[in-house]
Amino acid sequence: MTDADCIFCKIVAGEIPSTKVLETDRVLAFRDLYPKAPTHVLVIPKDHYANVAELAAADPALAGEVLRATSEVAAAEGVADSGWRLFANTGSDGGQDVFHVHFHVAGGKPLGRMLS
Ligand code: IMP
Repeated sequence: MTDADCIFCKIVAGEIPSTKVLETDRVLAFRDLYPKAPTHVLVIPKDHYANVAELAAADPALAGEVLRATSEVAAAEGVADSGWRLFANTGSDGGQDVFHVHFHVAGGKPLGRMLS
């Protein structure tokens, strides 16, 4: 499942370069091009789903694989003990810019509080 206009599908296909940090048959993690923290990695399913709701409804097992990969990335990046943030911006009010579901793994410095 790919979307010809999707930049993350192009990253999966190798048509746009990325710095990969983890790859499995169905999941890819790569560094955010404009990092907002010392560690800032995006974790995606290789198949194209627009957002978390679409992914979870279509393939819950894949959603679990992606979630597990986020923890593996945090460990590999050395932020598991100090703490890290996992978030998925969803829709326009949620600040989503790329409509291929992705989880941000951010850490490496105190990130402060959001919405509290
Ligand atoms: P969103 O705002 O949650 O959709 O996040 C999209 C993220 O993708 C942003 O943090 C961007 O910096 C990042 N991004 C956009 N284009 C690329 C790219 O080509 N490679 C890696 N990250 C990208």
